[in-house]
Amino acid sequence: MMTNRTEARRVFVIGAGAVGLSAAIQLQRRGFAVTVIEESAPGSGASYGNSGMLVADTAIPTFQPGMVWKVPGWLADPLGPLTVKARYLPQAFPWLWRYLRSGTRQQVFHAAEALRALHRSTFEGWLDNIGHDEMSRLTRRDGQIYLWEGAKAPPSRSLEDEVRAHLGINSEMLGADRVRQYFPGISRDVSYGLHVPGNGHTVDPRGLVNALAETFQRDGQGSILQERALRVWRGEDSRWTVMTNLGNHRGDILVVAAGAWSGRLLAPLQVTIPLETERGYHVMLRNPSLRLGMPILNKTRYFGVSSMSEGLRVSGTVEIAGLDTPPTVARAKILVTQAKRLFPDLVFDDEAYWMGHRPSIPDGLPAIGEILGQPGLFVCFGHGHSGLTAAPASARLLAQLAAGERPSIDPHPYSPGRFM
Ligand SMILES: Cc1cc2nc3c(=O)[nH]c(=O)nc-3n(C[C@H](O)[C@H](O)[C@H](O)COP(=O)(O)OP(=O)(O)OC[C@H]3O[C@@H](n4cnc5c(N)ncnc54)[C@H](O)[C@@H]3O)c2cc1C
Repeated sequence: MMTNRTEARRVFVIGAGAVGLSAAIQLQRRGFAVTVIEESAPGSGASYGNSGMLVADTAIPTFQPGMVWKVPGWLADPLGPLTVKARYLPQAFPWLWRYLRSGTRQQVFHAAEALRALHRSTFEGWLDNIGHDEMSRLTRRDGQIYLWEGAKAPPSRSLEDEVRAHLGINSEMLGADRVRQYFPGISRDVSYGLHVPGNGHTVDPRGLVNALAETFQRDGQGSILQERALRVWRGEDSRWTVMTNLGNHRGDILVVAAGAWSGRLLAPLQVTIPLETERGYHVMLRNPSLRLGMPILNKTRYFGVSSMSEGLRVSGTVEIAGLDTPPTVARAKILVTQAKRLFPDLVFDDEAYWMGHRPSIPDGLPAIGEILGQPGLFVCFGHGHSGLTAAPASARLLAQLAAGERPSIDPHPYSPGRFM
């Protein structure tokens, strides 16, 4: 069933986001001749506009027990973190149903262990892929703070606390005064914080992806074609063809790492991995009056704030509306309101809005590996809310599997076959 690894030298990777380019580098290091096909510029998908947090010490899947009861309130609240476009609901329903059903205690622990295996080495993985100079220019290992507003008592021992204890993750609960020492001028509504010192962030997510592209093209023979993959198939000679808007390319191995768009390429092959886009937004506030010492994740209102080279990025919200619906700019504007609520004295020069597509699989885990019955077809996508963090370890696992090496982490939780 497996491709002959010694002869399988030419690899095409579709998608030049954080995941595809990290995979390209890892494959290249194992002796494959790798070409990346990207329809736009490298790092212009979700990998461009995310919150930039590198969450080595966070491994909590997004959907948790009890959250299902909060959904109606979120949907009804114009400032709420979740919205579903009514017209898209019938299409999204099977995915949403699976997503809601994944919010069990057992699944949370299963997903947390699997996410931990991908997240914990993120700083080492990025360093390995982009080198010291780019790492120190682009990343900060300065911790992260989760915040709660309006709570009268510290959030009681939650499932998240249990997961952190189970995984041995270091964190410290802070009262409002300690939070204010870190962030003078923060709203009096903030009642508690949780400091996670092992996390960090990048000051330029796109710069991080560009650094991958440079490594890939500099260190080996890697090339990036600016073409749009339209269709892929396996020929009678067992090689894979990628038909693009500009030509055909043939290789021994094909890696689909096209983020939220991956499902479209796989559907004609009857490969059905439940993938949906959780559309997210950011607003970049330029020349802000505020520079944060570490990024914030507001756990009451579900948005993030990070200081980046370009300004203060406020990001979040989940909108279920598919790949083709135009952005709802009001969702991004909500983030400006949220930022001003959190920092009432915040001023800035101007604001730039962005919408992007988190590639999400309902059990909260990506799909990494070879497709059963399709020798030479590998996938690496579905990293949802933490793909920037998980990219290096996912890429290494993918490359190990493609090269027939013994994987350094257990590949089973990410098996693309788990849904088939
Ligand atoms: C608002 C928001 C905040 C986030 N915050 C964080 C965070 O703080 N930390 C974190 O770790 N993660 C975060 N994420 C998640 C993270 O950004 C994603 O999981 C990650 O970027 C996914 O990377 P990717 O390479 O799989 O996809 P993408 O970056 O989307 O790349 C896919 C690429 O494939 C290309 N492509 C698609 N179809 C084709 C085709 N047919 N032919 C050629 N090319 C194609 C696209 O142009 C794109 O460049 C956030 C996401 C969002 C939206």
